[in-house]
Amino acid sequence: MTSIGTLGSHCALQVLKGAKDEGFKTILVCEKKREKLYRRFSFIDTVILVESFKEILEEKCVKQLNENNAIIVPHGTLISQMTSQEIESIKVPIFGNKWILRWESDRAMKEKLMIESKLRIPKSVSDPKDIVGLTIAKRHGAAGGKGYFLTTNETDYKKKRDQLISQGLIKGDEDLYLQEYAFGVSAYLQYFYSPISNNLEFFGVDRRYESDIDGLGRIPSPQQLDINKIPSFNVIGNSPLVLRESLLDEVYSMGERFVEAAKKWIPPGGMTGPFCLEGVYDENGQFTTFEFSARIVAGTNLYVEGSPYSAFVYDEPMSMGRRIAREVKIAKESNQISKIAT
Ligand code: ATP
Repeated sequence: MTSIGTLGSHCALQVLKGAKDEGFKTILVCEKKREKLYRRFSFIDTVILVESFKEILEEKCVKQLNENNAIIVPHGTLISQMTSQEIESIKVPIFGNKWILRWESDRAMKEKLMIESKLRIPKSVSDPKDIVGLTIAKRHGAAGGKGYFLTTNETDYKKKRDQLISQGLIKGDEDLYLQEYAFGVSAYLQYFYSPISNNLEFFGVDRRYESDIDGLGRIPSPQQLDINKIPSFNVIGNSPLVLRESLLDEVYSMGERFVEAAKKWIPPGGMTGPFCLEGVYDENGQFTTFEFSARIVAGTNLYVEGSPYSAFVYDEPMSMGRRIAREVKIAKESNQISKIAT
């Protein structure tokens, strides 16, 4: 019997609930400190306790997962806690194309894929001397917005950079990526591409609520000026959003262009399974993509009972986690597992 497994964090509850609803055995690789939390949920069949998630690379953990014919669903915690090389070396099948995860973690590769997808992207700034206008400094990898800051000139950049160095968050310039700040309404577009049906499904939209930047609006400007703190973009939670219907056609086009470009550049199969285009809409309804995630994003946790968009495709509650499990089921029944896992 095939089982579906994931790491205990990020969107594990949604993924394993969806897997259970589709009739799979479920496995959670769980850090001991989180055991109490996850034992609360009856849809988790087996808990593999570890001190650290890196143990998923070790024989003991691998053996247990393979004995259960597990397919691992990768999420943000896997990306942020392991190097691309480590993820690629996991000896358990990973849902989707694990080779695309490297393109998510490396800023230069990421930019290349977005350009190839003909997405509108903010300009990157290669030298702090070239900073003009509002610019965002971001750390490499999925840092979840922690330690990111806004700046408008080189002197201010250096001051904030040095503050982060003294806090031990970065070592120097090489740890920061500078990008033009995109103004507008942020939106995180959630998709699922099936290499079996060859179809792109749009699953939902969320917004992130980030501390401290989203709390700043509650403080009057004179007090803002008095605070000597660099506001961070650390994700705390997500809230739902629906788009004007006139924006939907372009939402599908952007997703399709992304899938096409990934097919060309990242074998085998390119972008399969869930992904997210992350950016902002300007006053003309034009979308600028500053990021993508090549796997399930935590914003899909909003739609455990389905979303305003999945309801148009499915006559049953369809979360992203359940959609993943459905794909595994279809692939298994039609002998196409190699198309949906690597
Ligand atoms: P994750 O992997 O969780 O998506 P990340 O560490 O790769 O996060 P980003 O998504 O690039 O980080 O950025 C974090 C936050 O910073 C965004 O949610 C957004 O609020 C803001 N942000 C990033 N880039 C830009 C930009 N170019 N313009 C405006 N805001 C931005």
